[in-house]
Amino acid sequence: MIQDLHSHTYYSFCGKDTPETLAEAAIDADIDLFGITDHNYGVGCGRTDVFHSTTVEILSDYQRMLQRYFDHLTLIKDKYAPSIQILRGIEVSVLNKGRFPLPPQTDLSYFDYCLVEHLDHPEGNVINSDIFTFAKKARCPVGVAHTDLFMFSRNIGIDPLVYFTRMAEEGIFWEMNVNLDTIHNGHQHEYMLRFFESPKEQDIIRKSGVRVSVGFDGHRIEDYKPERIRNYCNRISEMGIKLAFEP
Ligand SMILES: [Zn+2]
Ligand SMILES: [Zn+2]
Repeated sequence: MIQDLHSHTYYSFCGKDTPETLAEAAIDADIDLFGITDHNYGVGCGRTDVFHSTTVEILSDYQRMLQRYFDHLTLIKDKYAPSIQILRGIEVSVLNKGRFPLPPQTDLSYFDYCLVEHLDHPEGNVINSDIFTFAKKARCPVGVAHTDLFMFSRNIGIDPLVYFTRMAEEGIFWEMNVNLDTIHNGHQHEYMLRFFESPKEQDIIRKSGVRVSVGFDGHRIEDYKPERIRNYCNRISEMGIKLAFEP
């Protein structure tokens, strides 16, 4: 299976393309499973003053704004269903500093999945870096995005194998973020590069049974490198590790 489970549209402040444009680029790239995951602080807010605000005045509208985004993705999913499988996702920041935070009562249960970012930022972390409690509340499949979970689990005093095994048991997957584009200034994630060079880490992931997703974290289609997606998906499969949502 070739999957790309991390992408941004114009619903994120940093993205620029329509969901249609992304879906068509993914079809051209022969992706089997494509996930759209706009930022929770971008979706529906539509205004940078709100995005940078941590006030709660717009909370009452937040669920409706999420619903509109979700409904648009449902149209895209249905429209392109003959050519590609699209998942309706959202990327959630768990910081309450400098950005509009996800209201704690937000219902995410109808999304196909959500990605969580900033799990390893101890300061202002609204879920106390506890992905397990978050996932239970979310009631949709959850993945941890662009985070060095080997380092993170050691830092909180948990053996990585124990941590990944618990993730596997609770259906939480781990993202290999393979971005390489202008919006991230050509930066690549070190944990991802290290993982692909480390038979020891690969062995721990295999033993734990945790699933791994691949995401390009695209923000504009002219930067898209699907051959990179293909390469990393194939390498994970060759390791005997299952991808997220793989049957
Ligand atoms: Zn992110
Ligand atoms: Zn992202």
